[in-house]
Amino acid sequence: REDSVDSQDDEGHMLGRVGSISVALKEWDIPFEELIREDYIGTGRFGKVYKGQWHGDVAIKMLNMDPNTDNAAQLSAFKVEVANLRKTRHENLVLFMGACMKPPHLAIVTSLCRGSSLFTLLHVRKEKFNMSKAIIIAQQVSQGMGYLHAKGIVHKDLKTKNIFFDKDKVVITDFGLFNVTKLCHASRHADRLQIPPGWLCYLSPEIIKALQAGAAYANNDLPFSTMSDVYAFGTVWYELLNGHWPFEDQPAESIIWQVGHGIKPSFGLIRGSKDVKDMLLLCWNYKCEDRPSFGNLLKIMERLPRKPFTRSPSHPIHLLSRSAD
Ligand code: ATP
Repeated sequence: REDSVDSQDDEGHMLGRVGSISVALKEWDIPFEELIREDYIGTGRFGKVYKGQWHGDVAIKMLNMDPNTDNAAQLSAFKVEVANLRKTRHENLVLFMGACMKPPHLAIVTSLCRGSSLFTLLHVRKEKFNMSKAIIIAQQVSQGMGYLHAKGIVHKDLKTKNIFFDKDKVVITDFGLFNVTKLCHASRHADRLQIPPGWLCYLSPEIIKALQAGAAYANNDLPFSTMSDVYAFGTVWYELLNGHWPFEDQPAESIIWQVGHGIKPSFGLIRGSKDVKDMLLLCWNYKCEDRPSFGNLLKIMERLPRKPFTRSPSHPIHLLSRSAD
């Protein structure tokens, strides 16, 4: 039987449809009253996140419903994402536990990540990872991402804020929630493009070129793909090597122009051998079809030298920006 995402079956079970497959979402439906909200953790585009209790410690991601958006459409989009999240079981992905699916209390409940995000470690605490640790982290991110892609899920928002690291283990969060965030009150603006800080450097050239104020973003037709996830992974790799974002402190217009024209940031400050930088260039390939899969990246990483890199006089620093060609 095929039902639309916002219909209910005879027993009142909520049904979801992903592609042509109908799925019962009831077993993932958590009554809002069963959740105990505790400490406030932070706010993102999606809404507020709380530490809470539901059969143990959990993270509760509350969806900020937009009063200007059609509630039925919002609920449908939310259920499609929830239907996707149920399919994910991998040790490098945050554990999806269920969702509150009755408006006005829409929320995603996941395991609570311990440790800190890579964003906090690299950009707030300014920690430096040695090459071996950077590779271990990148390998675990690639394993989680390869699994997501095998399940047909595009992350669409891979960035160091969405990667937690605790006791040598990586946990990726926020996969597949990008479409939901666009329905949230805080992120919408009718007449102009909202660019959250630190977002642009993860966007591939094909997405940057599709970004036109309002239209493309609001209409949900940015060309996200597994290959745009690989581009975003390249930026995470750059941050792991360098401790900075590419194009850091440059105005949005300048980043958009450079990425759209295939101009790469300077590799001058990047630690590591040629192989390490070549992997970055592969991920940041201007042509999306030339970017490697996460499976291929894992093979490349197995061969990367893990010792500290010492630059020889015959290995000049590339001080100039590099273009796609
Ligand atoms: P953006 O919305 O721009 O992506 P963000 O990633 O900070 O920014 P959220 O993902 O909503 O936004 O997270 C808000 C806060 O909650 C952040 O401090 C984040 O680290 C924290 N957080 C999110 N998910 C979890 C989780 N499962 N466990 C622990 N903390 C979490």
